[in-house]
Amino acid sequence: MELLFLLPLICAFYFWNSRSLRANRPYQTLISAHLLTVACIPVVFKVFELLHDIIPYRLLTELFDLLRALNAVAIWHYLIMAVVILVALALTYLLQMKVFSHQRLIKKRIAKNLCQNCGVGIGPQDNACALCGFKQFKSCDNCAQTTYVFAPFCRECGEVPTKVDE
Ligand SMILES: [Zn+2]
Ligand SMILES: [Zn+2]
Repeated sequence: MELLFLLPLICAFYFWNSRSLRANRPYQTLISAHLLTVACIPVVFKVFELLHDIIPYRLLTELFDLLRALNAVAIWHYLIMAVVILVALALTYLLQMKVFSHQRLIKKRIAKNLCQNCGVGIGPQDNACALCGFKQFKSCDNCAQTTYVFAPFCRECGEVPTKVDE
């Protein structure tokens, strides 16, 4: 019955692992591979338990004890991993919220001819903000024309203006 409960879990972890491998996400691959291993330990444990019932050799008895200890460790491991994943998800969420709210702010400022740095109104052709001194334009790496410093795409060529992340 325990194995029946674990089977969908293992399938889910395996699916997650193969997906993150394909999507090239190293941290998710690491975590899911770890979870997959941890979820598999009770299965191995059960298999050995079965083997133990069939062939009760002394060596198997020792292996059985070792696996029992491993199983206890695995549960703790699993709990700690769960906490780590929750904290990581929460941090990612907060970080994304921060990035998204910054993007919203920039969108509003560019659309309304406001300084991208301090948000005060400036002329559409003003190169720099007269109040904070922030230079509004940079040269695009793709087409070498000037474009907004914080805009996600170049106003001239429509491509991502810089290859390097901020
Ligand atoms: Zn300004
Ligand atoms: Zn460009």
